[in-house]
Amino acid sequence: MNPLGVHALVFAGSWGKKDRERAVAGAARLGYDLIEIPLLDPKAVDAAATVKLLEQHGIKGATSLGLNFKADISSPVPTIAKRGEALLNHALAVTRDIGATYMGGVIYSALGKYPGPATAKGRRNCVSALRRLAKTAKQSGITLGLEAVNRYESNLINTGDQACAIIAATGADNIVVHLDTYHMNIEEGDLAGAIERCGSKCGYVHIGESHRGYLGTGTVDFPKIFRALARIGYGGPITFESFSSAVVDPNLSNALAVWRNLWSDSDDLADAAKRYIEVEWAAARQNSQG
Ligand code: MN
Repeated sequence: MNPLGVHALVFAGSWGKKDRERAVAGAARLGYDLIEIPLLDPKAVDAAATVKLLEQHGIKGATSLGLNFKADISSPVPTIAKRGEALLNHALAVTRDIGATYMGGVIYSALGKYPGPATAKGRRNCVSALRRLAKTAKQSGITLGLEAVNRYESNLINTGDQACAIIAATGADNIVVHLDTYHMNIEEGDLAGAIERCGSKCGYVHIGESHRGYLGTGTVDFPKIFRALARIGYGGPITFESFSSAVVDPNLSNALAVWRNLWSDSDDLADAAKRYIEVEWAAARQNSQG
């Protein structure tokens, strides 16, 4: 069975002691297998305490981050690209130290609205930095994921096809496509086709509604998405991601334009999401066999 995950920001806005305990305990209590820990500020994570906490609750950790405009491997400016690579290496070390085997997200560019299109030089910088990062990741058995996000959050990878092209350019075999249904709903004309074209390169999936609130209350065609994932034999993590102004991460919430209160009860939201995913995923797998 696919590991079911939940983003830490469903429960808490930081990875400080109280917040991480609340997030990990909440995820474990609801039966999630995995918690995704945001690493936009890697030095804010106490790795030893995190390892202990995850062990104590019997769940695994994965990490994710987005770069910023001062530290961006897709910048044509060498100093900015270098700072981006340093940030990624720091995040990778934390990922290793907490015993996680996956680091994904917008690790290929800044997370935010660019004033213009990506440049050829920036793309080359990105590909060579990812190639080096993948080598380092491999030594620790870590897989990297490039999350295709909407046009307001990156100018480099907005679709699964674009993620596949960058991965192919790196030549690395431990970089996967990270799909997110919220972003796909904006950018992919053909949800099923996008998933099928990624095929075995798809290694991590975020399940998010069109407004990033309760699953099933927006416009994302989840039955179609789950059926396509079943057809490609997807066996990777399925992680619920949702954001509300009720829980704020000073680094992440503003970058994601989380302005509205879409929910206030983390436990109810995460419980409903897990049930929704389990029902839809089981139905899709049955459908794809028949
Ligand atoms: Mn996502």
